[in-house]
Amino acid sequence: MTRRRISILGSTGSIGCSTLDVIDHLGGREAFEVPAITGMGNITLLAEQAKRFGVGFAATADPTRHEELKDALVGTGIETGAGPEAIIEAASRAADIVMAGIVGIAGLAPTLAAAKTGADIALANKECLVSAGSLFVEAVKTGGGKLLPVDSEHNAIFQVLEQSQRHAVERIILTASGGPFRNMSRDEMANVTPKTAAAHPNWSMGLKISIDSASMFNKALEMIEAQHLFDVSPDAIEVIVHPQSVIHSMVGYTDGSVLAQLGAPDMRTAIGYAIGHPRRISLPVERLDFARLAKLEFQAPDTDRFPALALARRAMEQGQMQGCVLNSAKEIALEAFIAEKIGFLDMADIVEAVMVDMAGLGAPTTIEDVFAADAEARRRAMEKIGLD
Ligand code: NAD
Ligand code: MG
Repeated sequence: MTRRRISILGSTGSIGCSTLDVIDHLGGREAFEVPAITGMGNITLLAEQAKRFGVGFAATADPTRHEELKDALVGTGIETGAGPEAIIEAASRAADIVMAGIVGIAGLAPTLAAAKTGADIALANKECLVSAGSLFVEAVKTGGGKLLPVDSEHNAIFQVLEQSQRHAVERIILTASGGPFRNMSRDEMANVTPKTAAAHPNWSMGLKISIDSASMFNKALEMIEAQHLFDVSPDAIEVIVHPQSVIHSMVGYTDGSVLAQLGAPDMRTAIGYAIGHPRRISLPVERLDFARLAKLEFQAPDTDRFPALALARRAMEQGQMQGCVLNSAKEIALEAFIAEKIGFLDMADIVEAVMVDMAGLGAPTTIEDVFAADAEARRRAMEKIGLD
């Protein structure tokens, strides 16, 4: 039997490791060939994964770490590369499916390169859709592969959005855990540290997305992601805070029915659904025990304490380049918060100021327009923080 070929961009991250775990569960090297994997700083883990899965090519995004990676893989016959071009090369290697698990807009160019090969794209990297929107969707379509959402909310919607009933889709309801500061006052939020912000109550994820969950910038990105992925109008996208993270999202239909996907908060379900699509696979994840769960709670999101949500709505309504600007300015503000150069609430203020500055920028017609807006939004955000 021929093995399915799966490459993993960002294999050393949270999504990457969960993806390799799913592959292991599905039979590992017996069932899958792994043409390429990529990482950045954790060379030990990258090399260990490369050997364990017998990959064709392993690349680190850090150009200064090539020697270290080569040394770690000497005698294995595994090809190595380093720097952004090597990540593009990894993404371009022939594969049936590519997991897009790099964090941030750094994932856009490699994911586009993967789309061009015609591989199916399992998309965890939401920034591709937030920044490039329909250009990204079109690129995957042109390549000929499927676009398979891995973000748990979008994967949930993908599971319950009946394509034959698209005419009757009334609303998309994204659930949000509310993060660690769900019940905190604005005053208290002003003084939180990166460490407390990174402590997500339900999900175990990478550092940046965990802090984005605390500020609800993650949900903001997911609203824009949903707009492009499911081609719905901004006012059809709702957010509801649901602290248990059991309902992963819902679709409301014109007959009043609401279809939801439920499960334990474990990314392997969404990853496995994408890898197996259109066939469900078997996974060793925790099963929901409804008697033990007892109650599911819901509350309306508070845009005063979580202004990111209002910024996302503005970006969805304005369209143009505002999704890209929101994300790029947010990436700079987030790094500054992690480095303790700005406070938690300053992040949204900086993003808003850059969005206002760049409100006149027209919609992108090429990916180069997106990269130019990204660079400009970063520059302006740095300037506002005083880091230029
Ligand atoms: P992570 O920080 O754990 O891992 C990120 C990966 O990207 C690592 O392999 C890292 O080496 C690589 N990387 C970082 N910077 C890079 C760069 N400049 N160039 C190339 N590679 C780089 O992040 P994560 O939590 O796994 O998230 C990955 C993506 O998936 C993000 O877009 C995130 O929003 C999305 N996502 C994650 C989860 C989750 O549960 N972790 C859930 C939904 C969506
Ligand atoms: Mg999500």
